[in-house]
Amino acid sequence: SDLPSSVLYLDGITVSFDGFKALNNLSLYIEPGEMRAIIGPNGAGKTTMMDVITGKTKPDSGEVFFDGAVDLAKLDEADIAQLGIGRKFQKPTVFENQTVADNLQLALSGVRGVLETFLWSASARDKTRIDELLEIIRLTHLRDRMANSLSHGQKQWLEIGMLLAQNPKVLLVDEPVAGMTDSETVETARLLREIAENHSVIVVEHDMSFVRDLDVKVTVLAEGSVLAEGSLDSVSADERVIESYLGR
Ligand code: ADP
Repeated sequence: SDLPSSVLYLDGITVSFDGFKALNNLSLYIEPGEMRAIIGPNGAGKTTMMDVITGKTKPDSGEVFFDGAVDLAKLDEADIAQLGIGRKFQKPTVFENQTVADNLQLALSGVRGVLETFLWSASARDKTRIDELLEIIRLTHLRDRMANSLSHGQKQWLEIGMLLAQNPKVLLVDEPVAGMTDSETVETARLLREIAENHSVIVVEHDMSFVRDLDVKVTVLAEGSVLAEGSLDSVSADERVIESYLGR
């Protein structure tokens, strides 16, 4: 294949549930280092698309190219994660009874889920990386606070930091600003734009003022395929997009 590296390319993906096509010949091309916003009405197939990329759902047909040639549709979830595809689900999942810095340390150590065996063995390199991550996620001043004392938005940022600790090539982010305050929402757009300087990012989001702040190319999904693509202004002026949101 002559595809550039770290590109993510979904080619003609169809996923059926009991004969109903949740994805219908969906094609999507994410450039290396691009941030893309995915919008679309409920039931459009956004979650299913993310599930296909991460290997949680296998397509009936179509291929998912990543890093030039790998067909993700042939790999299992764990292998896909290993290739450098990280996913942030809507609900934040952090270790509530650990400090902010320790959450990042756990993510760096790759010992998520085996807390009871956690030993203090952080290297100097880890400490530098933790400092960097804390800056990126705006939590430097809260590094020694327990995660359970953070606001909902700060927990979302912490989980994004934990994903970044694993050095993903592509970060999938599912409705990051749901439940955030207005100022957290604005800050999240800035934060993701900074992250997108070094990672490909796909953001699924309903909050249109946030999508506007992201200021990236938008893909509108409807009925399992791409309805429109372009700037938020151009897609929101598209009659078919307006119709799909108003309901069929
Ligand atoms: P979105 O995230 O855009 O709201 P989804 O990907 O969750 O859309 O769903 C797309 C369509 O597929 C919906 O009609 C949904 O009901 C259906 N669907 C999703 N997952 C399943 C499943 N596991 N079984 C049956 N139908 C499903």
